[in-house]
Amino acid sequence: MSIVVVGSIAFDDVQTDKGSVKDALGGSALYFSAAASLFAPVHLVGVVGGDFPMEEIAFLNARGVNTDCLDVVENGKTFRWSGVYETDMNKRRTAVLALNVFERFDPMLDDRCRSARYVFLANIDPELQERVLDQVVSPEFVALDTMECYILQKREALRGVLRRIDLLFINDSEAQILTGLSNVVAAAESLLDLGPRYVVVKKGEHGSLLISRGGIFVVPAYPLRKVIDPTGAGDSYAGGVVGYLAETGAHDEGTLRKAVVCGGIVASFAVEGFSLDRLRDISRNDVERRMEHFRAVTGF
Ligand code: AMP
Repeated sequence: MSIVVVGSIAFDDVQTDKGSVKDALGGSALYFSAAASLFAPVHLVGVVGGDFPMEEIAFLNARGVNTDCLDVVENGKTFRWSGVYETDMNKRRTAVLALNVFERFDPMLDDRCRSARYVFLANIDPELQERVLDQVVSPEFVALDTMECYILQKREALRGVLRRIDLLFINDSEAQILTGLSNVVAAAESLLDLGPRYVVVKKGEHGSLLISRGGIFVVPAYPLRKVIDPTGAGDSYAGGVVGYLAETGAHDEGTLRKAVVCGGIVASFAVEGFSLDRLRDISRNDVERRMEHFRAVTGF
């Protein structure tokens, strides 16, 4: 089954205590596409400026990412983001956020994109997320990610689109901001009242929780000795989850549990390098091998 994704495609400047990069490929939709395309075909919807090096995403095309609906605004500038991490990499500060070509972006999906059955609305303005969802003919499973700035600035638009989705990805602090509840489990459970059947709360190096009316599933993070750059961990996690669901063609509770384990494993690769460096290198087999190891270290 194929997936359609809309989200940011960015130049990122990132600083961690392991080093820094400038003008690196990034953005929620690119991280997601690099991860999800390990499992299923992906249609990428988004916009870049004339300054974007299309040849650098040729590896995604080779992996089955269709970029026909990637709009190129020749006289515009690509989205730009810059983040600085503290030594505790769960803490980061956004230094620059320039929407650039996203400010006037009006997504137009072609027939192939419109017929995708799995939809991922990656981090971007919820109004844009909804405009993409409106164009998908018969979505079977819709997942969404968001971040603090959209929760604070676009709350009503976000609540509107939340009513139409199956799965919400959110991190612990965002869940607290959106609900006003400080307990993460209580916050996630109350998010089910806003629309989604499933809520995944990401807690960085402390793993994640899958919450539904059926109960709670707890997933530790894969134990890594060295993290280089956590940027895109959440988008890669979502790519592993939605990719796995599209690969299996199912989305029952049991499959969701396997999918969130898979998401955590894919994210563990993403953070071992800057930008898309690690995701570019790995194969579906590498994910499988790490999942086997994860099974060994979590079983008792
Ligand atoms: P994550 O670390 O999973 O939150 O994802 C970080 C990626 O999201 C970076 O590559 C950024 O380019 C992108 N990003 C950061 N802020 C935003 C935003 N407000 N809207 C869309 N994408 C963003």
